[in-house]
Amino acid sequence: MDVPFLDLRAAHARYVDELKTATARVIDSGWYVMGQELAAFEHEFAAYCGVGQAIGVGNGLDALTLILRGYRELGRLAEGDEVIVPANTFIASFLAITENRLVPVPVEPDPATFNLDVARVKAAIGPRTRAIMAVHLYGQIADMAALRTLADRHGLLLIEDAAQAHGAAMDGCRAGAFGDAAAFSFFPTKNLGALGDGGAVVTSDAPLAERIRALRNYGSDIKYRHLFPGVNSRLDELQAAMLRVKLRYLDEEIDRRREVARRYRNAIHNPQIQLPMVVMEDAHVWHLFVVRSVRRDDLQQHLQAHGIQSQVHYPVPPHRQPAYAALLGGLHLPITERLHQQVLSLPMGPAMSDADVTRVIAACQSFGDIA
Ligand SMILES: *Cc1c(COP(=O)(O)O)cnc(C)c1O
Repeated sequence: MDVPFLDLRAAHARYVDELKTATARVIDSGWYVMGQELAAFEHEFAAYCGVGQAIGVGNGLDALTLILRGYRELGRLAEGDEVIVPANTFIASFLAITENRLVPVPVEPDPATFNLDVARVKAAIGPRTRAIMAVHLYGQIADMAALRTLADRHGLLLIEDAAQAHGAAMDGCRAGAFGDAAAFSFFPTKNLGALGDGGAVVTSDAPLAERIRALRNYGSDIKYRHLFPGVNSRLDELQAAMLRVKLRYLDEEIDRRREVARRYRNAIHNPQIQLPMVVMEDAHVWHLFVVRSVRRDDLQQHLQAHGIQSQVHYPVPPHRQPAYAALLGGLHLPITERLHQQVLSLPMGPAMSDADVTRVIAACQSFGDIA
């Protein structure tokens, strides 16, 4: 049997009875969209993140898009404004920017942490810059203290793409509470995942929250009164009910991910494999355990030959995607392009067995041995 990259069925086994009970409760309620489960989850998730409000939406991309849309409508952003974004993020961060007719300005990461390099962010700030979108890539919080200082000095909005970082904390502050607003994804593979699509905006900015609450629901505040040309992007009752169950186990699941990461970091010693750098233990929730190797493709094949699944996050950076050929195709971002050739994500998840961790370690250790 292969070591799976992530086994969601095994992860859910621990509390599958609670998920089924919650499902039955929603079915029996006869109410499936914008009801008590959503209201309760929004309350619980805002409290967990330590922010004023959470607004459930259809997915993580919509959460990001609606934050920018809300700020546009509130006059804080205008068409053509520039938004600084990590060059090596998942493309959704870029899509939210361009969907709002804003201009993404990709900035290269610190290759050790994979997160935004603050000196490069500073250098990228120009007269049209209005916002910084930090991404807590792979589950590790970006340097938010330095980014906050920069944003304040230049009068910029600071937005978090926290889709990979539910529960990550720095100096007692959780992901989602650092920025002016933050977006979460509850895609099933995320650290807090629904059993389908889902997302949330969290913020302590009351006017922004109010606008996004309306925008996600046809721009409506009370039924059949439409204040703004909105969209339909809601977190449904079934998903909210699943997330309420899973939120109660999130911290324990993060602990298990940290234990797996600790074992990998203590036991993988191979000059061909560079381990990820950890800034602070609490600041990383190990959505992904990403190593680097100049022989990445060989390493992936070697792991496969030993029955170990691995993945690449991500094979092609946004500025090299066909979707952005016209807008960004001329950019040369050497750090990002090199990282995309070297990164490999090892199996990681809350239900990973000790035996599977041992197998992954052994296979990493034997990489490069003469056969
Ligand atoms: C998953 C993800 C998103 C998008 O979330 P969806 O729910 O899949 O739309 C955005 N940004 C990052 C960094 C992600 O990992």
